[in-house]
Amino acid sequence: VWTRACKCESNRMIWQLRLAHLYPDHMNIYGDRGNVITLQQRCRWRGIACEIVPVGPGATVDWSSIDIAFFGGGQDSGQALIAADFLERQGPALRTAIDDGLVVLAICGGYQLLGHYFLTHTGQRLPGISALDVYTVGGKERLIGNVVVETNPDVFRPAFRLVGFENHSGRTFLGAGVRPLGRALVGRGNNGEDRTEGAVYRNTIGCYLHGSLLPKNPQLADHLIVTALRRRYGDAVALAPLDDALELKAQRVMIERMLRMRQ
Ligand code: GLN
Repeated sequence: VWTRACKCESNRMIWQLRLAHLYPDHMNIYGDRGNVITLQQRCRWRGIACEIVPVGPGATVDWSSIDIAFFGGGQDSGQALIAADFLERQGPALRTAIDDGLVVLAICGGYQLLGHYFLTHTGQRLPGISALDVYTVGGKERLIGNVVVETNPDVFRPAFRLVGFENHSGRTFLGAGVRPLGRALVGRGNNGEDRTEGAVYRNTIGCYLHGSLLPKNPQLADHLIVTALRRRYGDAVALAPLDDALELKAQRVMIERMLRMRQ
């Protein structure tokens, strides 16, 4: 089916993406796997092949063959189980790929491990791979609740709004090497202090938005897909539109309700 659809669209070639799902068994809370399903399904609807490559402990990955990486959230204990493997086995090559423009979406616990370190609220220091210039320190109070984010106009033009759900003890602080993904209009965001939410470096996005995030925010899903396709097939790539009326209505209702409740 996808071969036919794809030939209709590009008339020339069959687009294919490879998506690495980092530690799917250890880092998958609040349905973060839904992000992977969404990316694959939105590709499938357009006749784009999207192969999922699970990357567990001990895996060897050729990062130059990967178009998108997804890294979900996890409990501190899950993060502790995989942090050393991630740092030693994937760290150097993944960092290079990220510098080279690999498309990455990392949520919460995954976001924290892309940074310099996560110091948990019990004092355990989990080193990150320093692909993002951020660090995270755990606090006693968890930051929990629905989130509405206005994206950073320097990152997305025009800006748009994202909805999600946060639940983290970690407070993440951004260095000069990243830009905030956006501003938390509702919710606590990166650290509960500066109203920033998430971080962006090249084509890598880290943020605290569970949900799952991408089914609720199809604009972001398509941004990731088109960025990955352009990196592989050139700047002329454009995505066929999908009927997102239902998704966008749900998003709008959620945003309006959250903003009303804030007042
Ligand atoms: N364990 C981390 C924290 O509490 C990440 C949590 C998550 O991924 N939701 O900050």
